Amino acid sequence: MQIAEIIEKTEVEGPGIRTGLWLQGCTINCSSCCNQSFLPVNGGTFWNEEELAVNLASLDTDGITILGGEPLQQAKQLIIFLKHFKSISNKGIILFTGYTWETIEKSSIFKSLISLCDLVIAGPFIETLSPDIRRWIGSTNQTIHFITDYYSFLEPWPVFRKEIEFHLRDNEIIINGTPLEIGFI
Ligand code: SF4
Repeated sequence: MQIAEIIEKTEVEGPGIRTGLWLQGCTINCSSCCNQSFLPVNGGTFWNEEELAVNLASLDTDGITILGGEPLQQAKQLIIFLKHFKSISNKGIILFTGYTWETIEKSSIFKSLISLCDLVIAGPFIETLSPDIRRWIGSTNQTIHFITDYYSFLEPWPVFRKEIEFHLRDNEIIINGTPLEIGFI
């Protein structure tokens, strides 16, 4: 599976302390996508799915949030990862996708993948519908789907707030959270 970025512990990609897992590659082409370097399908770092699952399951976190790039464009690999992750961990799984719920429902492989998640946020980022008033969500067209009741405590959904984290790693400063000018995916 091609991975664009992993932030082992973040508090701005869903409730609690979570691992942010950004997959590499997306052809959906939303205007003003804020993750341009995650779009080329040939980029990122290769991870063995089961090895990655073991690594992320071992972290002291509440759950994982899967983003992109476009996670569903590596559906086969992500299914392998999620099946293994769920076999060794009870952490909650949130997935953001740029595909609409209608598109997901027409695809058997997408539906198989979604069935392994607890919560899915679906739909492309639309700049003119941003910012959303819901926390963690980029634009008002995006839809929320509770696949299990793991995150049912999020109803009513928390209100939007700007939140930014700075992560220091080797010689890099990684900024994560709400972009300064626009919404976030
Ligand atoms: S916002 Fe998400 S779905 Fe849209 S182009 Fe960027 S990575 Fe792809």
